[in-house]
Amino acid sequence: MPRNAKTSTSPLSAVKRHRRAHWLRWCGYAFGFLGGGTALLGAILPWAQVAVFGLPLPLTGILTYGAICAATTVIGLLTLRNFPLIAVLAGVLGAFCALTTRNLVARDLMGRVISIERAIAPVNSRLAQVALEPIEPFEGIGPVSRYLGPGALIAAVGGFGLAAGGGLAFAGMRMQRSCGVCGSVWSDSRRPNFCPNCGNEVASTPLCRHCHAPLVKGDKFCVECGNQS
Ligand SMILES: [Zn+2]
Ligand SMILES: [Zn+2]
Repeated sequence: MPRNAKTSTSPLSAVKRHRRAHWLRWCGYAFGFLGGGTALLGAILPWAQVAVFGLPLPLTGILTYGAICAATTVIGLLTLRNFPLIAVLAGVLGAFCALTTRNLVARDLMGRVISIERAIAPVNSRLAQVALEPIEPFEGIGPVSRYLGPGALIAAVGGFGLAAGGGLAFAGMRMQRSCGVCGSVWSDSRRPNFCPNCGNEVASTPLCRHCHAPLVKGDKFCVECGNQS
């Protein structure tokens, strides 16, 4: 043990802090992957739908703006483990895209319904002349909300979940490489046992509570002093 190192923080609290950071990180990964999966599912589900002769015709999001959501989500999922802040950005972007375009997709579909209705209008007026039932494939037109599918909202929820997961993972990673006493942060490549700024003990790996020797996962006894760990 270095002569100048302080031990005012008990090694147990340093270990506790390390465990908490680890837990936070893995919570972030779980949340992020769950959110990303939900966002991908939302992108594939219908963003808009219309009933043709009573049969529902769904329009998957992936054929429209859902493709952008799917792309940002894939970027978020790929960067979640090593660059969680990029995952936060990707999740928020995907959610934002889903929320801002869901009405556009529905309005676009309604526009197509209107143009088909217009195209068959002359046929219908001729049918009316000979006292026949008009062709009515869409049961009337509008409002836009009638054409909305559930996909975009699910994609948005998933995107925010991915962003939240990225945030938690980042917080955990930062906590793992910062001092609990003075708050100083070191680079990811360093694995110090003592803070480079204030000299307090930091646990980058779990340490023996008696002699502060590093422990390996599953160790029941310290290999340095023989005490129960
Ligand atoms: Zn410190
Ligand atoms: Zn020991």
